[in-house]
Amino acid sequence: MTHQEIRVRIAPSPTGAIHVGLVRSALYNWLFARSHKGKFILRIEDTDATRSTQESVQAIIEGFKWVDIDWDEGPYFQSQRFDIYRNYAKKLLQDKKAYYCYCNPDELEEERQKAWQKKIAWKYDRRCYHLDKDIKDKFDAENRPKAIRFLIPDQTVIFEDIIHGSIKKEPQDIEDFIIMRADGTPTYNFSVVIDDAEMKLTHIIRAVEHLANTPKQILLYQAFGYPIPEFAHLPLILGTDKKKLSKRHGALSLLEYKKAGYLADAIINFLALLGWSPGGDLEIMDRTKLIELFSLERVNKANAIFDIQKLEWMNSVYIKNMDSEKLSQELLPFLQEINIAPDDHARFMKILDLTKVRVRTLIELRDMVSAFYTKDVQYDSDALHKYINPQTKEHLQELNERFDKLTDFTAQNLENELRQLAEQKGIKAAVLVHPCRVALTGKSVGAPLFETIELLGKAKVKERFDKIISQA
Ligand code: GLU
Ligand code: ZN
Repeated sequence: MTHQEIRVRIAPSPTGAIHVGLVRSALYNWLFARSHKGKFILRIEDTDATRSTQESVQAIIEGFKWVDIDWDEGPYFQSQRFDIYRNYAKKLLQDKKAYYCYCNPDELEEERQKAWQKKIAWKYDRRCYHLDKDIKDKFDAENRPKAIRFLIPDQTVIFEDIIHGSIKKEPQDIEDFIIMRADGTPTYNFSVVIDDAEMKLTHIIRAVEHLANTPKQILLYQAFGYPIPEFAHLPLILGTDKKKLSKRHGALSLLEYKKAGYLADAIINFLALLGWSPGGDLEIMDRTKLIELFSLERVNKANAIFDIQKLEWMNSVYIKNMDSEKLSQELLPFLQEINIAPDDHARFMKILDLTKVRVRTLIELRDMVSAFYTKDVQYDSDALHKYINPQTKEHLQELNERFDKLTDFTAQNLENELRQLAEQKGIKAAVLVHPCRVALTGKSVGAPLFETIELLGKAKVKERFDKIISQA
């Protein structure tokens, strides 16, 4: 095992948006591959033609590219491998490890429902395995649809999950499950094993929902005589209320986070901690650090909790720490959307230095930055109501005159003017600061005021004061 190349995969079904759990699974596989200098493979499990869509495949590829989870092989598509699965099924039939089932799936389902209502455990009773040859011939002559079932061998399955420890399953608790449907499509448990074996995967790292499928899959590996990979089943991700994760908890699809102004690096760091931690208090880790520290042994068995506030905080840290040049590249598309194209580059960088420490998302940053460029300030109505009245307007008019007279429009000089006016009026500086901020930025909170005023520039400051003062 030690000299073997580590090979892992993510195997998404392209049936909808990319949810958080899928990205977390992809990330853990990717981190594991990178930390062992192994290979990470992308396989699209699109056997269900009615539910799989090309848009979903595109979203998966675009999403992984956005967060920079790169793959070494693939994407492979299961829909292009049906012949392979059929051949494996044929082989199992020949070896008498599988058999045809002529039962009508709807009728079996009805039996299952009835038993369930009576609270009786129900399992397919192998009736077609025992059919006489002449009956089978008759069914075949009628062209009766037939599925292929795997004959569960009479042996206990025991395996060691890296995260969940020893798992044991008795054969009487496993049904002769269908491997090929009557329509010729393979079932998940069948195609997954063939592909994982053919692609020589060494570790299967996936969501805990699949832990229950693993004994069936192990029996198939054994039936084919393939080596059994290691398994690691990742914990569930729940909302802060311990309920199934949903939009209510702020869980979005991957590309929606991009639109909402999250940085890919923050998403990666956040997801890495959904079920794993390096120990200690270390939380902010870039990819290099994650690759260095990640191990399956430190993945928790307990459910992980998705806390959107933590993601917001983490995003704020990544925005704050990002070099302003680089950050400007992330922000520009957001500014473009609202038709703002910063011209003076040096001024743009200063504006970013000033604002990036105060925001949680690129959307918030965009709004704060746009205040420096826009012709019409968006006034927060609560802030207006609270701070703009006839008396504060008088103060603002005096400030306006003082600022306008300044030849050197610097933060320091602006602050001096405001403080002198406050002193002259016998009021606290804060009494002037808040209305001033609202008049100039539309908001009651934001970046440091005097630097903001300096960067706004004399002309815009005068224009904005004039506007708010003249308003009824
Ligand atoms: N297509 C399966 C899924 O998305 C893959 C499960 C697995 O990793 O084995 O759930
Ligand atoms: Zn049957």
